[in-house]
Amino acid sequence: MDTIPVIDGHNDTLLHLHLPGRSKGRSFFERSNVGHIDLPRAREGNFGGGFFACFAPNRQSDGWTEESAITYTESGYEVAGAPPIDPSYAGALAGILAKRLSRLEAESGSRLEIVRTAGEIETCLREGKIAAILHFEGAENLGKDPGLLDEAYENGLRSLGLVWSRPNAYAHGVPFKFPSSPDTGPGLTEAGKSLVRECNRLGVLVDLSHLNERGFWDVAGITEAPLVATHSNAHALCPTSRNLTDEQLDAVRDSDGMVGVNFAVSFLREDGREDEDTPLGSVVRHVDYLVDRVGIDRVGFGSDFDGAKVPKDIGDVSGLPNLLAALHDAGYDESELRKLAYENWIRVLRATWRE
Ligand SMILES: [Zn+2]
Repeated sequence: MDTIPVIDGHNDTLLHLHLPGRSKGRSFFERSNVGHIDLPRAREGNFGGGFFACFAPNRQSDGWTEESAITYTESGYEVAGAPPIDPSYAGALAGILAKRLSRLEAESGSRLEIVRTAGEIETCLREGKIAAILHFEGAENLGKDPGLLDEAYENGLRSLGLVWSRPNAYAHGVPFKFPSSPDTGPGLTEAGKSLVRECNRLGVLVDLSHLNERGFWDVAGITEAPLVATHSNAHALCPTSRNLTDEQLDAVRDSDGMVGVNFAVSFLREDGREDEDTPLGSVVRHVDYLVDRVGIDRVGFGSDFDGAKVPKDIGDVSGLPNLLAALHDAGYDESELRKLAYENWIRVLRATWRE
């Protein structure tokens, strides 16, 4: 189990390294106990790479932070909706984070490579390099002019989340709420619908995580690509707005798409609580449920490393073999584990990127 590499649907490592308050000065190239991913720990955990998100958080001047916007209710919590952010700011920060990834590649001594094709991911896995897929979490990262998608693609962008959990010019993200349906607001705007078509034209993955349910169905009606949620779980097991209902999962299955299981404890636990003392079994339960619903070929991982609290028995990227061992104990054989760990991601990316 220790030799199976993992391609992962989501990490927030670029932003974590960028924000001094979070990174506390850590380097990607030195082993640290801060955050979840650095090169030494990635190697210990057989991390083969995955989606490196560029995410622009709300600023203090918006008067909104997740901590200040949360209220606890009898059965869970509710985070007051984050306001939209200025696309100029988002575009500028996304540019800085994308440059940071290029710098990691340049300074890695060929140990990390930004990949643009599924073939390149396979080469990286063979050669023991980290395969980094450039992902924008929120289409406001394209800046004021959506025509910039072409330019972003030229610069390596291969995956685009229409929204984070807030509205933008294209769509509406789900506010964090537990318990809650993901049906929290209107569907895609006209600009959002044309952006999906542009992504199809270029072969950019449209990520459905954080998108509300009406937006999800709008994308399902437009896109020619498999439906993919890079970091979301099963709503039937953890009824947060961020997870996918059975009907959404059926659509993912019918499109031959994919769900990346999110390790964030608040999207795993039945009670939605932010408690790291959450057993590995809760990840296994979501994998079981999703495999049952969408099939063994359509489930993978979407850790949310460096962006969320994860179960302490995973701890950080070096703990990935613990998860594979738990799945093995739960009855998954080696060929199934390889599908969950990386083969499914490669299949869906090859189809989406039309190689
Ligand atoms: Zn996210």
